[in-house]
Amino acid sequence: SVPASIASALSSGARRGLLMKGGAVIETAAKVTHVLFDKTGTLTHGQPVVTDILAVAGLSEAELLAVAGGVEAGSGHPLAQAILRKAEAAGVTPLPAREARVILGKGVEAMLGDRRAWVSSPRHAAEVAGIDAATLGIAAGLEAEGKTVVAVFRENQPLGLIAMRDEARADAADAIRQLGAMGIGATILTGDNPRTAAAIADGLGIAYRAEMMPEDKLRIIREMAAEGGAMMIGDGINDAPALKQAGVGVAMGSGTDVALETADAAILRDRVADVPALIRLARATMQNIR
Ligand code: ADP
Ligand code: MG
Repeated sequence: SVPASIASALSSGARRGLLMKGGAVIETAAKVTHVLFDKTGTLTHGQPVVTDILAVAGLSEAELLAVAGGVEAGSGHPLAQAILRKAEAAGVTPLPAREARVILGKGVEAMLGDRRAWVSSPRHAAEVAGIDAATLGIAAGLEAEGKTVVAVFRENQPLGLIAMRDEARADAADAIRQLGAMGIGATILTGDNPRTAAAIADGLGIAYRAEMMPEDKLRIIREMAAEGGAMMIGDGINDAPALKQAGVGVAMGSGTDVALETADAAILRDRVADVPALIRLARATMQNIR
């Protein structure tokens, strides 16, 4: 019977860490034609590591880290965590900061003493403070290697660049290949710049949309959902609105307990290959019913 097939799919999924909130989710997941992926923490480990520190304006690396660490101290963003881990490893104490404020999808600003300082995308830095072409060129070169680069500046003075690398999950490329074989498209939606996004996407064989502000991500998901079955995969920590907007919102990995409130499904293990596995389970279940 239909309820029995659904119940058995829900429980066999749950045994493999694939949680679906009821039969309607199975039905929608079976019809998915496109999967949208968050990048950081979903396709990548979400634990970037600082690879390059480029101090300018006569600053030492330690002084640059002290400024950047101070600005980022209150931020839970993976890039902030990477900078703070690096500062700690280098024995650098972040400068005390006040009035820290997140600039969504762009960076963080805070007061250090009586001067305002920023850690942000080079693009945002160029808009706010102006960065010289040579420094922007260096940033672009690091980005083309798949690194995410942030600019550090104080008032109108550029202080330096910090580059970080966040490795793709080991099974990500294979999972994208499996989706392709199932006739399902895949796209990364990221706030990161197009060069970093392209380097990561090319390695995984996936399409990408870069420099997506949170509202852009929602718009793309809505457009894709209108065209047909769109599934959104996110780490759930800052993706709740996006997960809610998709036909099927799936939270993956560590953020799942928070996200399960808004998401339709959750993948408990940090395995990208569980995305095609979940869709296969949904398809097989609906085929049994028909
Ligand atoms: P993603 O879509 O990869 O989760 P976000 O929207 O969180 O990206 O961030 C987009 C970009 O904004 C980052 O690549 C970075 O350039 C900048 N940014 C965001 N948060 C921070 C931060 N705490 N410190 C520095 N830069 C940041
Ligand atoms: Mg994010």
